[in-house]
Amino acid sequence: MRDQIVAGNWKMNKDLKQAIALVSEIRDLMSRQPPKADRVILAPPFVYLSNLEGAVSKTKRLYLSAQNCHQELSGAYTGEVSAAMLKSLDVDYVILGHSERREYFKESNELLASKVRAALDQKLIPIFCCGESLSVRESNQQQAFVNNQLTESLFKLPSDLFGKLVIAYEPIWAIGTGKTASAEQAQEMHASIRQHIAGQYGEEIAGKISILYGGSCNPSNAAEIFAGEDVDGGLIGGASLNASDFLAIANSL
Ligand code: PEP
Repeated sequence: MRDQIVAGNWKMNKDLKQAIALVSEIRDLMSRQPPKADRVILAPPFVYLSNLEGAVSKTKRLYLSAQNCHQELSGAYTGEVSAAMLKSLDVDYVILGHSERREYFKESNELLASKVRAALDQKLIPIFCCGESLSVRESNQQQAFVNNQLTESLFKLPSDLFGKLVIAYEPIWAIGTGKTASAEQAQEMHASIRQHIAGQYGEEIAGKISILYGGSCNPSNAAEIFAGEDVDGGLIGGASLNASDFLAIANSL
């Protein structure tokens, strides 16, 4: 069986006190009721990672992720953070290719290929985001578009490294809009992603990769979306900023 995962992308939210309080509330709720998700991942802003690492590592099934990393290990890249630095903080995951990074920071498929490789080389697990815009969806090109993102950023990896990835399908039109993909749209795309992976790496590897859905997931719609057989959990934005909503989602699996 594949790992069922719920990851919270806090984006650029919370001050330090609020971040510590949110983690403590999440731990509290998890100790009262162990979540159905095999892995609950928190992705706070970089600056809080070392403050939160101790509390997160003491909680079973709770893991820490960064929201991005640089493709080089070190050097003259003012303001950037490398995968090696994240690993030195005992961070386990890194979100790469989020649509906000692609749009506002012009991250290309090619650049993301080097970030994915840098993260894997440091034994971080990339949560690789893919997904189409509304205009691509309206012209019914979504599967070809997402396949191309996967091919260009991931398909040069050897099988052993590819098998470590987590994929997150996040249709851009559903992120932060309150509009989710229907359960059918999510399942259809997840199955298509798995098939595309199988074409390159074979059924066995494709069958083991966790593919998360992201885009306006909340406690009332998560169970229906997660019911799809190729949907292995969610990448959650807005609703991850509230401990009880986030864990309600983690218990919708
Ligand atoms: C995201 O940004 O990864 C996301 C899924 O956001 P939201 O849940 O707020 O749509």
